[in-house]
Order: sequence, then structure tokens, then C-alpha cells
Amino acid sequence: MAQTAPAEPSAETIRDRSWVYFNGRVCRYEDAHLGFMTHALHYGTGIFEGIRAYWDDKRNQLWTFRMAEHYERMRANARILQMKMPHTTAELCAITLDLLKRNAFRSDTYIRPLIYKSAEVITPRLHSLPDGFGIYTSAMGNYVDIDSGLRCMVSTWRRIDDNMIPARAKCTGTYVNSALAKSEAEQNGFDEAIFLNADGHVCEGSAENIFIVRGGRCITPPPTDNILEGITRATLIAVITEDMGLEVLQRSIDRTELYVADEVFMCGTGAQVSPVTEIDRRTIGDGEPGPLTLRLQSAYFDIVKGNNSKYQHWLTPAY
Ligand code: PMP
Repeated sequence: MAQTAPAEPSAETIRDRSWVYFNGRVCRYEDAHLGFMTHALHYGTGIFEGIRAYWDDKRNQLWTFRMAEHYERMRANARILQMKMPHTTAELCAITLDLLKRNAFRSDTYIRPLIYKSAEVITPRLHSLPDGFGIYTSAMGNYVDIDSGLRCMVSTWRRIDDNMIPARAKCTGTYVNSALAKSEAEQNGFDEAIFLNADGHVCEGSAENIFIVRGGRCITPPPTDNILEGITRATLIAVITEDMGLEVLQRSIDRTELYVADEVFMCGTGAQVSPVTEIDRRTIGDGEPGPLTLRLQSAYFDIVKGNNSKYQHWLTPAY
């Protein structure tokens, strides 16, 4: 029997008895502690990942999706903050599968690895500081509504530039920028924020990449427009170009192109494939999730749930 997963992991959902990996050992969540002086807590000097595993009721299996690619991205990003991953990617995958098994998940699950500056020192620097590393896992359902369409606003907060805090690094401090925009959007009655960069071009959501569809072509901002180089984004580019035979342009997008697009959708490990039906109080297309978005959403779920043999190599079973 499948279990029901909460929309968002929280201490309540994983508290106490959950197994986590923490600085070289497996322990209970309640036994993983950080000192109050920890550098990363004060200065945002951590790099994290978000990985999903999907419960497959038919096969009684839990499939992690593109886990090795997530750890490889983390390894590359760790270099930006002068950190070194403590394990090979194969070891990290094995540790993760062990945690999933120990925690006996039978629902969609979220995996959160974090590498961080663990020194209890004052200077906000990167060099010559030890790294801490841990992974927690938690049941997680849909992070945002993926059915009815998201209502978005263009944020008044601009995206941080690569020469300020690189968005590509997925570093913890970056998410202050995301949190400012997400709260602004939700407190103004919207579901999600869309960032512009300092040039006024569209970047991404608070935790999602973005695509627009115009005249049968998909367009998404290039990595040089201050976005996270998303794994879901790469997955969808493969599906659109290889399986659907459509074009994906990676180029800068003007704000008003959002308003005139036939379809807009967001994507990410958490958001999966989420249609956007309204931006800045303008209806996108006919106000319903677009046909291409829905085809992509269904193709995506087929892939992550183990129903597309072509992409089976992106899945690793936990059981
Ligand atoms: N952009 C941002 C800012 C994000 O936090 C995320 C979520 N990780 C994404 C894009 C999507 O990336 P991915 O598909 O690799 O999860």
C-alpha cells in the first residue's frame, strides 16, 4: 500500500526516528546537531541538492530520479565555494539508497544532501575551513499545485547576478533571494514569483526553471542569464527535442514575452512540470494549462515513475 506524502517536508514529518546521514555516520535525525556558531548558518556558505524518488505502486518500488547527476552537479558547485565532496558519486548514491531503505518509504520522497562550512569561526571566508556533509530524506508529495495552473507575479526582487552570488551554485545563501520573492508573491495572493535579472530578462522562479511556448517553439533562458542549470530543465529539453521533435531555443526572454506566450510552464525537482496560467494578472493563452505543457507533464511522469524504458537508466531502485 502506498503512503500519503505531505506537500512539504518539515521537522514534524521526519522528526526523531528518521535515519539521516551526518558527517560520516548514519544516525537518527534527533542526534544530528550543529553548533550555533556554525559558519554556514551565519553566512549561507552551504551547497545543497534536491532529489526526488517516486513510489511505484505497481512494482512495489521506489525510484530515485537522476540521482548521480544531482550529486555530480553538487560536486561541481562545491568547487565554487571551495569545498570538496567527502565521497565519490557511487558512494553517495549507495548512502542515499541505504537511507531510503532504512526509512522504509512507500510514498514519493525527497532527498536533501547538504555540504556546508562547518567551522565555528567568525570570518566570512571560504578557504581553509572544514566542510560538513549530511543527507536527510522525507516523504514529499506535490510541492506546488501541478493541475490547475500557477498564478505568478514578476517579482520586484531582481535575481542575484553570477558575480554577486552565483545562482548556478545552488548555495544556501542564494535562497534568501528566493525567499524574498516567494513571500512577496504569496503575500500578494499569487502562487509563485518570476525573477528578472538586472537587465530585465526573465530568469526563473523561486525554485523552478521556466519555459514559454510561442508558435510551437519552446524558449527557455540560457544558463548565462543567472539561472540554476536545472536537471528537470535538461530532462524536458531532451523530451521536447528528441521525443516530440520540437525545437527548444535557449535565449533571453523579455518580460512582455511572458504575457503574449501561448503557454508558460515551470519545472524543477520539487515543482515537477507545473503549468502557469496567469502572470501579473494577465491570462496566459486561454487560461487553462496548455496542451504542450500537459503532454510534457504526462511524459515526465511516465519517465520518473518507470513507465518509459528509454529513460530507465535515469532511475535507480531503492528496493
Ligand atoms: N531554479 C532554482 C532556483 C531551483 O531552486 C530549482 C530547484 N532545484 C530549479 C531551478 C530546478 O532545478 P532542478 O530541476 O535541478 O531541480
